[in-house]
Amino acid sequence: MKLWINGDWVPGARRVKLHNPYNGEVLAEVGYASVEQAELAIETAATAFESFRSVPAHKRSSILYQVADLLERRSDEAAHIIALEAAKPIQAAQAEIARTVQTYLFAAEAARGIRGETVPMDAAPRGEGRTAYMTREPVGVVSAITPFNFPFNLVAHKVGPAIAAGNTIVLKPAEQTPLSALFLAELFEEAGLPAGVLNIIPGEGKELGETLVSHPRVAFVTFTGSPDVGKQIRAMAGLRKVTLELGSNAPLIIDRGFTEMELAKIADEAAIGAFAYNGQACISVQRIVVHEELAEPFAKLMAERALALQTGDPLHEGTAITPLINEKAADRLKGWLQTAVERGAALHCGGEFKNNLMTPAVLTGVPEDAELSCEEAFGPVVAISSFTDWREAMEQANRSRYGLQAGVFTKDMEKALMAARELQAGGVLINDIPTFRLDHMPYGGLKDSGTGREGVRYAVEDMTEPKLVSFRSG
Ligand code: NAD
Repeated sequence: MKLWINGDWVPGARRVKLHNPYNGEVLAEVGYASVEQAELAIETAATAFESFRSVPAHKRSSILYQVADLLERRSDEAAHIIALEAAKPIQAAQAEIARTVQTYLFAAEAARGIRGETVPMDAAPRGEGRTAYMTREPVGVVSAITPFNFPFNLVAHKVGPAIAAGNTIVLKPAEQTPLSALFLAELFEEAGLPAGVLNIIPGEGKELGETLVSHPRVAFVTFTGSPDVGKQIRAMAGLRKVTLELGSNAPLIIDRGFTEMELAKIADEAAIGAFAYNGQACISVQRIVVHEELAEPFAKLMAERALALQTGDPLHEGTAITPLINEKAADRLKGWLQTAVERGAALHCGGEFKNNLMTPAVLTGVPEDAELSCEEAFGPVVAISSFTDWREAMEQANRSRYGLQAGVFTKDMEKALMAARELQAGGVLINDIPTFRLDHMPYGGLKDSGTGREGVRYAVEDMTEPKLVSFRSG
């Protein structure tokens, strides 16, 4: 596979074998960009911006509508690519493609809705005799760096808004999932995107990061990935605008007062939130804080659901648990589990490893300062703790360096309102799991979970610069 620069397929500086995380088979030889090729891609995007900035909104919108349509038609093929390179269960991969189609549709709509406002200059005495408006202009070249876990939809959350706003892009997908990104080139080419507007350069983050973030022609950096890399990007970016969508260890709080049936339904949803795609989502349920009256039965319900999940081949319908993305992730989780158990946690089920596949684990009594409580697990594991008082539940949930989304189940309106006020997160979802996301919702984090918001319209706004125009008369 080659790089896509200026509407052409260009050989990479070196070729790297891409392996299927499920069976180790070689899926492709992928061309990796050198620093010089990354610079070329950025210069190309900068040149393309000179003309793309004046392409009218209805044309940009129409390209995005066409991409949504083409992706929908080729959704089986696209889902298959995710299942192969990311080992994502096929049903989850299909769901990701359906969401990606929505994301491009939202971007197509957003392209036609970019608005400024009039500025009441005569509100100040010195402003009399002036009429002004604020308009939004595209920022220029956007560098987009993406993770492996939603290789279509998280790319769409960057490429869609950038094109909607009239920007040009250099996209560096995760090392593990270049094929999903390169597939996109075909769709945009067919949809008639001018050459050089979108450039896709697989390659190593460590090698290309500095160029992608600090090249003088890059105006905006949008990154989704781990907090450590996010901090490095922030340090390299200087005065550039940066969006950082980073990790979390999302909490779910469950109040008392639920019937057996209601609790079982909450457990169904919590199990999906915790274990879907092996917990490799930034808003996977990791910590569940349950009222002490329900904590024990809830742990039992979660363990029953964890044990019922089928493990194995991502391409088999019905498979829920597949190997983690790589050995490093499996080794990390193995170590964290062992430490938690050695320090007194009770393992109710799971936590067995077969190569990189981990069976879903439910724990109680995990010490507050153990990694499984305070770091991002990014694996199929939940730590259940209990509370007596609602304020204590809020405190437990907030005891984290992250703050992306939090979920709360309660029947008490006062408590719901208190959670909405007190929880330190970019999103608080009442009577939902924290894993719930729609692609037009404002989405992003506080603390180590990042800065800025995605959710197409919000990203489009970030990717424009307000410009004031004032007319003086008389
Ligand atoms: P990662 O940080 O290892 O890699 C993400 C991207 O950064 C890759 O493209 C990688 O090549 C690149 N990269 C690595 N080093 C770099 C450097 N020095 N400079 C610039 N780029 C560099 O993350 P991952 O393992 O692919 O994904 C998992 C992480 O992503 C988790 O922490 C997860 O929570 C987070 N995530 C966040 C969101 C969100 O919306 N908040 C969504 C999905 C994933």
